[in-house]
Amino acid sequence: MKTKYIFVSGGVLSSVGKGLASAAMAALLESRGLKVTLMKMDPYLNVDPGTMNPFQHGEVFVTEDGAETDLDLGHYERFTSINLKRENSVSAGQVYETVIAKERRGEYLGGTVQVIPHITDEIKDRVKKVAKGKDVCIVEIGGTVGDIESLPFLEAIRQFRFDMGEENVIFIHLTLVPYLGMSGELKTKPTQHSVQKLREIGIQPDFLLCRTDRILPPDIRSKIALFCNIKAENVITAKDVSNIYEVPLVFYEQGLDEKICERLKLKAKSKGLSKWAKISETLASPKNGTVEIGIVGKYVDLTESYKSVSEAIGHGAIANQVKVHLKYIDSEKLENSDVESELSGLSGILVPGGFGNRGVEGKIKAIEYARKHNIPYFGICIGLQLAVIEFARHVCGLTKATSREFSNTGEFVIDLMEEQRKVERIGGSMRLGAYQCKLTPKTLAYETYGSSEVRERHRHRYEVNNHYRKILSEHGLVFSGLNSELDLIEMVEIKGHPWFLTCQFHPEFKSKPFEPHPLFVGFVRASLKNRMQLKKSDKKTSAKSSSLSPSKQTRNRSVEYR
Ligand code: GLN
Repeated sequence: MKTKYIFVSGGVLSSVGKGLASAAMAALLESRGLKVTLMKMDPYLNVDPGTMNPFQHGEVFVTEDGAETDLDLGHYERFTSINLKRENSVSAGQVYETVIAKERRGEYLGGTVQVIPHITDEIKDRVKKVAKGKDVCIVEIGGTVGDIESLPFLEAIRQFRFDMGEENVIFIHLTLVPYLGMSGELKTKPTQHSVQKLREIGIQPDFLLCRTDRILPPDIRSKIALFCNIKAENVITAKDVSNIYEVPLVFYEQGLDEKICERLKLKAKSKGLSKWAKISETLASPKNGTVEIGIVGKYVDLTESYKSVSEAIGHGAIANQVKVHLKYIDSEKLENSDVESELSGLSGILVPGGFGNRGVEGKIKAIEYARKHNIPYFGICIGLQLAVIEFARHVCGLTKATSREFSNTGEFVIDLMEEQRKVERIGGSMRLGAYQCKLTPKTLAYETYGSSEVRERHRHRYEVNNHYRKILSEHGLVFSGLNSELDLIEMVEIKGHPWFLTCQFHPEFKSKPFEPHPLFVGFVRASLKNRMQLKKSDKKTSAKSSSLSPSKQTRNRSVEYR
């Protein structure tokens, strides 16, 4: 079968949901038995988002082969069976870097190097390389139509259809159709203008996905169709949903996959979406009520920074038939506030990955609280490092224990490895991607994974300092996961605590709704158990129980999962 290409652009506003829409379309096409791949093209000049502040960019998603990529790649992997690689994420920075390096090598000798054809050719080549051997390649163009920097990408995809033929390439444009409460109207003008912008540069979309809060009535669809030169049946409502796993269902109900297959002459029958429907049902009415989990971090004002973590908790929630209420707690504020009033009543506490000194002491306070109050604790990356520091300070009596990343006390229980000391370039130089980890039998990690060896993805520079292994383990810290090749500690837990588990890697990157990650399933299960125990003791001491009442915890940002 000849490879077919779907290019997805966005208009009107950023963050309308191109990534999710692309992932949902991939899911629909995969459910028809097609071999699908996805790519993201980002117009910024950074080579990758690894060096960007999470407040600028949200989470950095790490692939199995160690690429630091846009968080949309996380959606792509969660919605499909695809294992994405470095080449599935392209930035303008990478494209220019390649073209300029070729120029320096003399590969264009004699010629003037230009955006067209050199940059556009490089973009097209990258798409073709990724698409090789696949039935469908979906390419999402980052940014919004009308941005100066997206132009080379849009020009490249215009040429792509010209090169490959109409029957092999379609353009899908995602816009916003806002409802104005004042006049009680759905407004189509922003969509019209955004499509005009696309047509000015020679791209006529085949389908429009219109993000709205309600189903578009037929007259509005016809109006959009007329002004945008698109068949009315190809104007699709991308209605707001209560959970992201409903998006494939919304498109399916409107026959989007059927229409795409017809337009691209793809012969692949739908096998239905029953597994997606089941997930949505579970999310709508979970049998086991709600648990509240606290995420203690410093990027809590932009919860996109913890996208894969919150999604993975959601997968654990589905597996346990429970609704999770996430309470985002600012670790910096926790440094000077009453930890008891912020954390009591939480069913579980999680410290996700993070960098730098700010807010670190607040996270340590939260970990100490979880350790002493037997609250399930899940520490990821810096969440492991800080658990080791907390234990060293308060249990082993190493009062100056810290990480070389934070301060220069000399007592570095977390330190830089030899390799990292030589690093001069900041970009792409952390320990990145998947490494093996051997699990120690009879530990919580071993039991929770149900296996003796796993591969997980990393993104960090610092490691547990092996010099401190002896003193830490003598006091009850358990090293439950080890990288035998590099002699590094990958998982740490505490003997005797009901559920205290930490990992140097990021398990959240491998969790999917249909394959929830065992550590997240275990953490949510432990949190549920803890909630039930809290309830029991609440009943027994009902008069004195106000300190455990969830109603007290309102000061920080609270977000209902989904
Ligand atoms: N800042 C720590 C390091 O570089 C932890 C990184 C993380 O949490 N992803 O090792």
